[in-house]
Amino acid sequence: MTVACLGTGIGGSGDIAIGDAYHVSRGAVCVNPSWVESSQVDAEVRRFESAIATAGEQLRRVRQQIPGDTPPDIAEFIDTHLLMLEDKALSSQPIHLIRSQGLSAEWALQQHRDALIRVFEQIEDTYLRTRRDDLDHVVDRILDILLEHQAPAFDDLAGRIVLAEDLMPADLILMKNQGIAGFVTDYGGPMSHTAILARSLGLPAVVGARGVCRCLRHGERLILDAANGVVLAGADTATLLQFEALRSAAISRTAELRRRGAGPTVTRDGATLTINANIELAEDVDVARANGADGVGLYRTEFLYMNRDTPPSEDEHYRAYRDVVDGMRGRPITIRTLDLGADKQPGGGAHGAASSNPALGLRAIRLCLKEPELFYPQVRAILRASAHGRVRLMLPMLTSAWEVDQAKRIIALVMRQLDADGIDYDRGIPIGGMIEVPAAALNARAFARRLDFLSIGTNDLIQYTLAIDRVDDELTYLYDPGHPAVLRLIREVIDAGRATGVPVSMCGEMAGDLAFVPLLLGMGLREFSMQPAAILDLREYVRDLDSGELERIATCVLDDPTQPDPLDAFTRTLHTH
Ligand code: PEP
Ligand code: MG
Repeated sequence: MTVACLGTGIGGSGDIAIGDAYHVSRGAVCVNPSWVESSQVDAEVRRFESAIATAGEQLRRVRQQIPGDTPPDIAEFIDTHLLMLEDKALSSQPIHLIRSQGLSAEWALQQHRDALIRVFEQIEDTYLRTRRDDLDHVVDRILDILLEHQAPAFDDLAGRIVLAEDLMPADLILMKNQGIAGFVTDYGGPMSHTAILARSLGLPAVVGARGVCRCLRHGERLILDAANGVVLAGADTATLLQFEALRSAAISRTAELRRRGAGPTVTRDGATLTINANIELAEDVDVARANGADGVGLYRTEFLYMNRDTPPSEDEHYRAYRDVVDGMRGRPITIRTLDLGADKQPGGGAHGAASSNPALGLRAIRLCLKEPELFYPQVRAILRASAHGRVRLMLPMLTSAWEVDQAKRIIALVMRQLDADGIDYDRGIPIGGMIEVPAAALNARAFARRLDFLSIGTNDLIQYTLAIDRVDDELTYLYDPGHPAVLRLIREVIDAGRATGVPVSMCGEMAGDLAFVPLLLGMGLREFSMQPAAILDLREYVRDLDSGELERIATCVLDDPTQPDPLDAFTRTLHTH
């Protein structure tokens, strides 16, 4: 029998993955052997004892919050864990290992856990054996506290379809490196950075498929039809063959489009468009180039900061940027400065100072201006890379014009330092900014006057305009790029660019969505940047469009402030022509 689960598909048409289900828990804790200096032993013991105390506090808080009508065994379950935490049998041996052998607290605890598990495995009694799960829960809780900021480990994932409650972008990078075929999550919206990264990595995925973890078995063969947001389990041979055939057809179609796509992208009436790629990792340039990207319109450099404890050094930045510059062979590269924060955290988890509203918090340019020591090495590296090719520097998440002034002062300072050090860079490097906050869109001319180019980040612009968290799959139905307010803001930015002679591009997901491209062309947009896989379809599609006709219809529809649904009116008028 075939079971189907529905969620939001991530991937282009024809994106299909077939593989065995692999459940991962983001709670899985990875401990590497490590030791401390003898002078640190006392402090390490204190760290261990404090982690146990924190774990106890956490459990007591959970226990207090249990509603009165909850079955009593839930509270008993927590009591058992509290008793284990307080039991010297759990803590005395790790403390001994720290003192006698200089093991780190987490490594000592892991050693002790392994020894206890060996004992549990020899127990015949099934009930007592289940106590092993309790031990795991308690130890994992302490390790989570000790290993704050450490990313979970994932093993043996090649060819698997990963099932998880949720995944962070940092997790996905680790998993992609292990060769997963695709993934399914219970939570997460299609505009989350995890979903965007999946598209960029060419990983078929279904997100926000609530309940998947419960109804699919580990190891069973799954078909993931990302275009339709469907996960199939228990498929018979005929169905499997059918999906295999669809997958092969999609691969052949990509090859055919690549063959046909060479040369500039020109509409039927002769308007030339620039079609750039959004990339997250230096290796993405291969697909970008293969798909005929004119350049890189958005390099999301924050992925350099993920799955590590310390920020990358200036040289690491520089090497990554040089690889991209070299890989794109003379085409322009737009390097966006760090946009960490919100759903992009270095370690994949909810780290960093807690903010009750992370998307409205210390993110992107705000973080860089507040912590310039984070900004300097990156700016230096971008400038150094500019000596090797056509590099542009782009500032994310601008809200007020003074942020540009302040960032430019820092850039000028770094330039003076490079001059003093005799290091070469492009003195005329174009400095641009992302317009992705409604305040910036409404004030776009102030930004255009200060910057060499603007790029509309619709993913955030939509989130902030419509007041919906882009990561929350329960709000996906409200995420509407065609909302009249969003369209007005986009038009405002394009018009500001036209009035000031400053080029405007779009690098949000909307730019690669064929449903909106005619209207965007009609508004006068000529530069688009998108995940590399979307480039081929877009190039093919726009060749049949008449930009003059689109502009006439768009002006008519958008000039009418009473029009309740400009996108619909535009599309209907277009189809009657
Ligand atoms: C955007 O907000 O549209 C954008 C391109 O930036 P990001 O998706 O990285 O936030
Ligand atoms: Mg953004």
